[in-house]
Amino acid sequence: FIPSLSIASTNITETVHLNGRTMGTTYHVQFLNDEDSKYNVEQIHGKIKAILQDVNDKMSTYIPSSELSRFNKSQQVNSPIEISADLAKVIKKAIELNELTEGALDITVGPVVNLWGFGPEKRIEKSPTAQELAQRQSWVGIDKLKLTQRADKFYLQKSIPQLYVDLSSIAKGFGVDQVADYMENQGIKNYLVEIGGEIRAKGKNSKGKHWQIAIEKPKFDGAREIEYVLGLKDFAMATSGDYRNYFEENGKRFSHEIDPKTGYPIQHRLASITVLAPLSMTADGLSTGLFVLGENKAFELAEKQNLPVYLIIKTNNGFETKMSSAFKKLVDKE
Ligand code: ADP
Repeated sequence: FIPSLSIASTNITETVHLNGRTMGTTYHVQFLNDEDSKYNVEQIHGKIKAILQDVNDKMSTYIPSSELSRFNKSQQVNSPIEISADLAKVIKKAIELNELTEGALDITVGPVVNLWGFGPEKRIEKSPTAQELAQRQSWVGIDKLKLTQRADKFYLQKSIPQLYVDLSSIAKGFGVDQVADYMENQGIKNYLVEIGGEIRAKGKNSKGKHWQIAIEKPKFDGAREIEYVLGLKDFAMATSGDYRNYFEENGKRFSHEIDPKTGYPIQHRLASITVLAPLSMTADGLSTGLFVLGENKAFELAEKQNLPVYLIIKTNNGFETKMSSAFKKLVDKE
């Protein structure tokens, strides 16, 4: 899901734009190059590319030789495999968010995602059979995955050989955080980092305003229209929706978000959910988990956990929008 970003004008300071492709999508980085701190833009872009490549090499399920793919292919059961600190960090967060979302975000749902044609296995035109689904469902379960730490080393183990971890719901967010942390280390105070719709912003744009981010109206015809514009202040934002990545069978749409409890693509009236959080990986994982829960449960949980969320809900005559109390509080401060 890729919201439209406002392009800041360059009247006060120069806004640097860096773009490219990563993780099957695009990235955009913007930052202000002040008079008194001229940055070497090419060097910064080179480093950003290296950071994104590194995240991919660790977490992609589309790269057969990635660290995660090697774990997924491993047939070793109940024996700890050493993993990188980065991979451990993302898996730890995903396990935490699994609990927070009452099981709705589940990184072990990969075999079912793939069966529905939304992973590295090929696309499908027909729904899988009940038997195929039941088999794959029996491979799913966060309890079959164990993350441990001994001194400064991290280990991951599976309790069944078929266990397969899919970090598509959170890895882009981690990539954003890695790039944002690098910008911080460089002393860059005003920046916006975006990968495939996952955004983290700090400071202000060249007009001296908080970075303006648009939340899109859900549209199935590929058109893009703005629903809400938000000034993002030192926060990350993620949106999950069911109108970009789906397949259609007999006029029925199947979304790429799977309910781990049933193994079926979600079926509810939530068209999209936007989540704000300090870290992009948190916002990214939460938006998927809350999206799976649907409009009522997602809203209830957001109120209970004080999460800033913005929902767009399908109704019989269009869409209705809803903000959680925490979201309202944040935008009222604008
Ligand atoms: P996007 O931002 O592209 O809409 P998301 O961040 O919402 O994507 O992640 C969706 C991806 O996460 C799916 O393509 C699938 O690989 C994986 N996925 C689907 N359902 C779940 C789930 N319940 N828990 C964890 N990952 C999921």
